Amino acid sequence: MSSTSDALFDTLKQGLADIDQRGLRRRRRTADSACAAHMTVDARAIIGFASNDYLGLAAHEKLRAALAEGAERYGAGSGGSHLLGGHSRAHAQLEDDLAAFSGGFVDNPRALYFSTGYMANLAVLTTLSGRGTLVFSDSLNHASLIDGVRLSRAEVQIYPHADMAALDAMLDASSGEAATKVIVTDTVFSMDGDIAPLARLVELAERHGAWLVVDDAHGFGVLGPQGRGALAHAALRSPHLVYVGTLGKAAGVAGAFVIAHETAIEWLVQRARPYIFTTASPPAVAHAVSASIRIIGSEEGDARREHLAALIETTRAMLRRTRWLPVDSHTAVQPLVIGGNDDTLALAAALDAKGLWVPAIRPPTVPAGTSRLRISLSASHSDGDLALLGDALHALSERQS
Ligand SMILES: *Cc1c(COP(=O)(O)O)cnc(C)c1O
Repeated sequence: MSSTSDALFDTLKQGLADIDQRGLRRRRRTADSACAAHMTVDARAIIGFASNDYLGLAAHEKLRAALAEGAERYGAGSGGSHLLGGHSRAHAQLEDDLAAFSGGFVDNPRALYFSTGYMANLAVLTTLSGRGTLVFSDSLNHASLIDGVRLSRAEVQIYPHADMAALDAMLDASSGEAATKVIVTDTVFSMDGDIAPLARLVELAERHGAWLVVDDAHGFGVLGPQGRGALAHAALRSPHLVYVGTLGKAAGVAGAFVIAHETAIEWLVQRARPYIFTTASPPAVAHAVSASIRIIGSEEGDARREHLAALIETTRAMLRRTRWLPVDSHTAVQPLVIGGNDDTLALAAALDAKGLWVPAIRPPTVPAGTSRLRISLSASHSDGDLALLGDALHALSERQS
């Protein structure tokens, strides 16, 4: 008879015990309220510095209303995949809105909407690359990009983080090979908050005839004029660019999109298994995202970005006054590197005791020995919220030194 004491379960239990021993057990918190600066989590009132809701739109009145209106118009579910009946007017409209909003980096831009950024990255990498393709990947790229490369079966060369001389040399060394080349990078690195050298990357992609896939999960809505994203921020243009943006972070809803020249997008529609073999997300969600894009591009969006920029500067000054190591980030992701897993967890727990939720980020999300607190700022934070965090960090920094 099978039971949970059999060999299969013993293996899992040993694995879990090992996770515990290394201080790597992850626990979920359960939110009892909408995502906002002030939330109820596990039935306690806290100030959250954990979300990617950078503009504070996740609980916005207009987005709640748009979601309800979308559900009224289109129902709850899409009913099928995009190629087999699930593609609605709301999805089509959103794709037009996104191409017009963030497609300025290429002629004939077209957007393709996905239910998640993870799937969008799998789709892009498995359709632009395959056996015989050479992929050049930044060493700190997001897990979804790494998994996309793996699934593509392409050969991968990892260049040291943001090291353009090393990337140039790798591209040179591979120049005899006829293979398609793809360079892939985060724009804003999700655990460090720094921005990739995008102008140099575009130059290298052009010179070496490579695609350049950029994942702007943490830039879309925040960076650039009207929040149009990292490519608009750097005023870059190239037909080799393939842009991935996500819609569950600054946009406050869910989903993701790819923008590229219409030919590249049509190739994705025909070939991307993570696009074809999955149910289209609820049309109401797409309807709400269209409303979010309107807010992002409006004066209200500008005001939210301005407030966020001020919070970022305050945080940078505040982190420099602790005994730990801030990462030089000018984005809403403000990491404080503590080092060991246990120390990082202890610090997160001490903040939690003061009603401040700052997640501890540990391997494999970040390299071993660089465990950190990841302070994530949002336009929904007040100056007072940040002052509370600053005071708490200051007190803990004194105590533990
Ligand atoms: C969050 C994130 C993704 C995944 O997007 P989802 O919509 O959450 O699946 C992809 N890339 C980066 C860099 C991210 O931070």
